[in-house]
Amino acid sequence: MSNRSERLPALFISHGSPMHAIEAGAAGEAWTTLAKRLGKPRAILMVSAHWETNVPMITGSPTPQTIHDFGGFPDALYRIQYRAPGDPALAERMQTLLREADICAGIEPHRGLDHGAWSPLLHMYPDADVPVLQLSIQSDRGARHHLAMGRALQTLRDDNVLIIGSGHMTHNLRDAFSSRPAPGVAEYASEFRNWVDAHIKEADIDTLLDWDTQAPFATRAHPSPEHFLPLFVALGAAGEHWQTETVFEGFMGPALAMDAYAFN
Ligand code: ZN
Repeated sequence: MSNRSERLPALFISHGSPMHAIEAGAAGEAWTTLAKRLGKPRAILMVSAHWETNVPMITGSPTPQTIHDFGGFPDALYRIQYRAPGDPALAERMQTLLREADICAGIEPHRGLDHGAWSPLLHMYPDADVPVLQLSIQSDRGARHHLAMGRALQTLRDDNVLIIGSGHMTHNLRDAFSSRPAPGVAEYASEFRNWVDAHIKEADIDTLLDWDTQAPFATRAHPSPEHFLPLFVALGAAGEHWQTETVFEGFMGPALAMDAYAFN
């Protein structure tokens, strides 16, 4: 248990490729430094791009398995086990908080943790001794729904629960792994990233909520929205007003922005 008395920030992390579990470079160092400063929370809620369901679901297992939800990577990645416990009582409390906000959520008793959850956590809390829960996203329900889920759960920050949206600032894998990439960072990716970054720092949630129609190159930066939606859960958990702290910024390759933020 941490003895910090302040409210924990809500976080958004661009989690990189599954290989970031093993080697995350400067981004991983930034995640580690942040976690050391925050101390060990009572529990962690990960909202990962890699768990999509029709209705919101919360992991309820007391011993969540490590899911290796990717293909074609080195064996070392499949041997990783992140054996953090779950917290079924906290899952029920989350369900209640969501219900009070008119959001119907279920509890999934068997689902484990996907790499969007355990890859950053390996760097943040390598001892895996903090309970971890996941909340799923709904790709067809847009930014406002995800903001509402975050707002419904924001009081958990007062109880030393660390809420982390785990997705990506930009996520066009076809451009990211193009066989003939243009040199440097793709202009559309940096334009999109700069637009989002500016509105986050202005705490301009109304504009951010219309990102898919307002942001430059939104559909190229995110051909599908699942890696961007966890940001809105984090912004919802940040409350009506927030201060933005940049945890990390930079690109992996030509098109994957790795931005991470803490919202206080
Ligand atoms: Zn991902």
